[in-house]
Amino acid sequence: MSKILMVSSEAAPFAKTGGLADVVGALPAALREFGHHTRVLIPRYQVTRKLPAHRIWDSLPIRLGNSYFDTSIYAADADPNFLMLDCPQLYDRPGLYFDAAGDYPDNPLRFGLLCRAAVEVARKIFRPDIFHCHDWQSGLVPVYLKTQLANDPTFFGCKTLCTIHNLGYQGWFDPGVLASLGLPAWLYRTDLLEFYGTVNFLKAGLVFSDWLSTVSVRYALEIQTPEFGFGLDGLLRARSSALSGILNGVDYTTWNPATDPLIPANYSENDLSGKRQCKAALLAEFHLPERAMTRPLIGLVSRFTSQKGADLIAEAASALFKEDLYFVGLGSGEPRYEAMFRHLAEGNPGRVGIQFGYNEALAHRIEAGADIFLMPSQYEPCGLNQIYSLKYGTVPVVRATGGLDDTIESDTGFKFREYSGRAMLASVRECLQAYAEPPRWRRLVRNGMCKDFSWRQSARHYSDLYERILNL
Ligand code: ADP
Repeated sequence: MSKILMVSSEAAPFAKTGGLADVVGALPAALREFGHHTRVLIPRYQVTRKLPAHRIWDSLPIRLGNSYFDTSIYAADADPNFLMLDCPQLYDRPGLYFDAAGDYPDNPLRFGLLCRAAVEVARKIFRPDIFHCHDWQSGLVPVYLKTQLANDPTFFGCKTLCTIHNLGYQGWFDPGVLASLGLPAWLYRTDLLEFYGTVNFLKAGLVFSDWLSTVSVRYALEIQTPEFGFGLDGLLRARSSALSGILNGVDYTTWNPATDPLIPANYSENDLSGKRQCKAALLAEFHLPERAMTRPLIGLVSRFTSQKGADLIAEAASALFKEDLYFVGLGSGEPRYEAMFRHLAEGNPGRVGIQFGYNEALAHRIEAGADIFLMPSQYEPCGLNQIYSLKYGTVPVVRATGGLDDTIESDTGFKFREYSGRAMLASVRECLQAYAEPPRWRRLVRNGMCKDFSWRQSARHYSDLYERILNL
């Protein structure tokens, strides 16, 4: 029975760019089942302002270095456990982290303020037993607690947990930000916040938190190696006795083909006829021919980045499309990968359909309508789409890394280890072979649909971890 204050830059449905939001949006309710009281603090971005919320704290003044911010705190009408830090000059912008001109240059200030405000929320509104911080944006919470506020009795006994959702994003900034964030210059040391000439917010969280976790058991091991460590593997090895891997759960109230209102027809493992309707509708939506109904349809929903294996798709594309298959993709990301996917669609008319952008409903329709889901990630801390795919009877073909390795087994999907187009292609071909054998395919589909990756299991692990941290 503990009190947890989560600090995060995203929480679904209030602000989302990726899996982090899904986790922070769903975990609190699952923790409630175990008796924990959780509040979540996120910034009140422009998108967040559009959602109904009420002000619960009028004036929360925060001093950072020589700057002074008069902030206030809102609670979401939909769930008042989700608190939003209002400071329009920093957060009322079109993007969460960047706009067309690039990353917001004051991101260190924006997320430094979030961290410092979290401590004030703890003082005035909700004093937690544990600050549960997520990713680099909340990395300074334990730093403030253990430096500026080290002697403040309000926080005696408060513990900190830092969860890594993606080690590839660390928040590297000019060392000058320390002074503007009101932090002492001595923190700029190689064994503390310094990282190759920058101040590294995630490293701050990893050094100063009482415990660390990441979002799958496999990724917890991988990040301790140079290949996956992004320069922090040494630190993570040094802290390995305080590092846990807890697989994310998924929210089956939004991701369940039996009840999903965003797909053309509902279905379950006992009656898959609705899935055929979903496939027919998806083909029509992407202007793909009816003949594809009897051929394998591969789906992809992804950020178009190197992390997600876009290079492997480029490498394997010509051989891949020699197979008698169809392909639909949804995503957005780096311009060079968007151009690659555009090229694929233009070069394979009537075979390949790509939609660019972020479209939640279409992501559901692809999960439901595709036969196969492709996730050839270079690295994948947990990955959610492959878990959704299992539930939607869409057989995953994944690279055996991180959470993909932990969630996909030979009775539910196909995995390849080597990061190469050749290995991916071999795995896709194995999958096509299975597709050609209907009884085997039905077994694969059903096995996947019966798997349970609900939040309950993950919440139990977090609950045990909180208890362990409180007894440190
Ligand atoms: P990551 O957080 O690294 O992007 P995850 O697999 O953990 O990857 O989570 C991705 C989440 O974002 C899923 O809920 C997925 O459906 C969603 N998503 C990713 N790209 C898009 C898109 N273009 N449109 C809609 N949803 C998307």
